[in-house]
Amino acid sequence: MDCHAASSPHVKLRGVELADVKWTEGFWAEKFDLCRREMLPSVEAALLDARNSEQLINLKIAAGLEQDGYRGTDWSDGDCYKWIEAMANVYAITKDTELDRKMDGWIGIIAKAQAPDGYLSTNIQLDPKKKRWEKVQHHALYNMGHLITSACAHKRATGKNSFLNVARKAADYLHGVFAPRPPALARMDFNPSQMMALVDLYRVTGERKYLALADIFITMRGSAPATVEEGRDRRHIGGTDQTQDRVPLRKETQAVGHAVTATYLWCGAADLYMETGERALWAALDRIWRSAALRRSYITGGACAQPTGQSTRGDEVHEAFGADYQLPNRTAYNETCANIGNAMWNWRMLQITGDARYADVMETVLYNSALSAVSADGRNFFYANPLAWDGRSGWPTKHYTETRWFVHTCYCCPPQVARTIAGLGRWAYGVSPEGVWVHLYGGNALRTKLPDASPVALTQETNYPWDGRVRITVTQAPARPCALKLRIPAWAERATLKVNGKTVAASARPGAYATVRRHWSVGDVVELDLPLEVRLMEAHPSVEDCRHRVAVMRGPVVYCFEAPKEQDGERIWNAGVFLPENAQFRARHDKTFLGGVTVLAGEALTSEGRDRFARENAGVPAPQRTVGWTNALYRKLTPRPLKPPTTGALDITLIPYFAWANRGPSLMEVWIPLAR
Ligand SMILES: [Zn+2]
Repeated sequence: MDCHAASSPHVKLRGVELADVKWTEGFWAEKFDLCRREMLPSVEAALLDARNSEQLINLKIAAGLEQDGYRGTDWSDGDCYKWIEAMANVYAITKDTELDRKMDGWIGIIAKAQAPDGYLSTNIQLDPKKKRWEKVQHHALYNMGHLITSACAHKRATGKNSFLNVARKAADYLHGVFAPRPPALARMDFNPSQMMALVDLYRVTGERKYLALADIFITMRGSAPATVEEGRDRRHIGGTDQTQDRVPLRKETQAVGHAVTATYLWCGAADLYMETGERALWAALDRIWRSAALRRSYITGGACAQPTGQSTRGDEVHEAFGADYQLPNRTAYNETCANIGNAMWNWRMLQITGDARYADVMETVLYNSALSAVSADGRNFFYANPLAWDGRSGWPTKHYTETRWFVHTCYCCPPQVARTIAGLGRWAYGVSPEGVWVHLYGGNALRTKLPDASPVALTQETNYPWDGRVRITVTQAPARPCALKLRIPAWAERATLKVNGKTVAASARPGAYATVRRHWSVGDVVELDLPLEVRLMEAHPSVEDCRHRVAVMRGPVVYCFEAPKEQDGERIWNAGVFLPENAQFRARHDKTFLGGVTVLAGEALTSEGRDRFARENAGVPAPQRTVGWTNALYRKLTPRPLKPPTTGALDITLIPYFAWANRGPSLMEVWIPLAR
């Protein structure tokens, strides 16, 4: 059996097994623990709560164990499977027998719920008014896709075949229906979790027909575009940009449409590429990545600008990418599932290429637009993740809420967060014939094998992202020389590397992997220092909503200004908060604040202070730019040499964006107006 992409032929790196990485201390160890202790039980309780949109009980009803009608959304089953996947990911590390027992119980129910021919989508099975493959929005492929992915995770974590057998039966059924490519079902695929699921099932079972079926689904998308006579608003019928099926993937040039279905499609296509090496697929993924990352993404890694709107080709879309540079802050939709989908896709692009820019996107999502979805106590969640908040809940749609909730009208996001944090160890490392690649920093222990089966083990000690010093100790060394490849994030200027206390000449270029190649011995210590300067960031001038505004970052963490209403927030907000472009901040760690965060203390200006400051510095010319906007959507602001403010100073404390909305209703912004 394979771990993810462990033997995929068209990759630069191979993944590691989830059980190979154990978080031991610091940020991700705390989040993993929060996931195990709080998120899993909270998600379980919500899935059992009659008020929630997603409902475990449907599986029991379909299994004949409860008498009732179907409850909840059409995609409820898929989100229940994501919770089981989260449990499997935690179990892979902890071997907690209670989780194993719980998974066994639900898998037994799921097996009973499955139709004799392998079909399993309880929203259809329990509703006599609905027929199989009748409507796109019935989400049957989404439900069965998550079933398969969850079952593969369970197989890897436990070695048991119980869930995998259910998944194979479902996949065999799908093969029977879709392998003949029935034209009537060409638009049937809405949220294509089944593409990556089928590639995964191929990796776990070695059965090539599952890989072939993934290819069929990818080819099917875009094969029957909507015609003018059918109208432009066909969001729920398929054939348009809403579902990436106006233009076939291999011909696509832009990131368009629903941002969850889009990122899931690209994940599936990247997985397929890893197995087939088809150049047209890679060329399309590369074009789409440039569109998404360089023109259509938020500084938080959020990937979804529009709650509703139009694609640039004129189709009605919702929960969708915007046009180039259309990145509003207050109405930024940034559905949690889409942001995480963006990270999942970039993790795959990273494995294919070994290019650090994909790891940068993945990390940006993780520390910002993925974590913002969950409360500091791990129990409540956000669906939309806007970059500014003005106190108006429920606008422009019901998914914009001022605080996180326990149950919701669409509960797809919480189990998405849980399964991602639980499975994050896989994203921390890669291996290749060269050696070990370190993608994510965090206290952990790695024990894995290089592709030639040489065992290798190391430990990471660090308080990243609050501190940029990382100490890696080799605890088991391969017999032959090999490389340790350390990711230098694009923001990390002047990073330094030492081996056993001596500075090494390895290039530590930002946005690349620094390579230290040697014959390693047990006890060798590598020290990486990533300087964590506070950076004022500016957006590409075409991003209208960010003009004359800056975002503040330290390392990978995006900060925000939050004014809690209970702490006189509205008065402070209304007096104006402006940043001089030469603003200085002091980082201060507070273990007890917002779950343990580093805050940035500094001085802003009120409206009155801004007016005076702008007057006194009028006419100071802009600095000569050395870095242009090629291949960048956001960059560090180069401040002009300005006279210091003389009046209207305001002490402010910025908090990590991900930690906002943990102090009751508040006002918040990531992009703070400049004092100009
Ligand atoms: Zn979601």
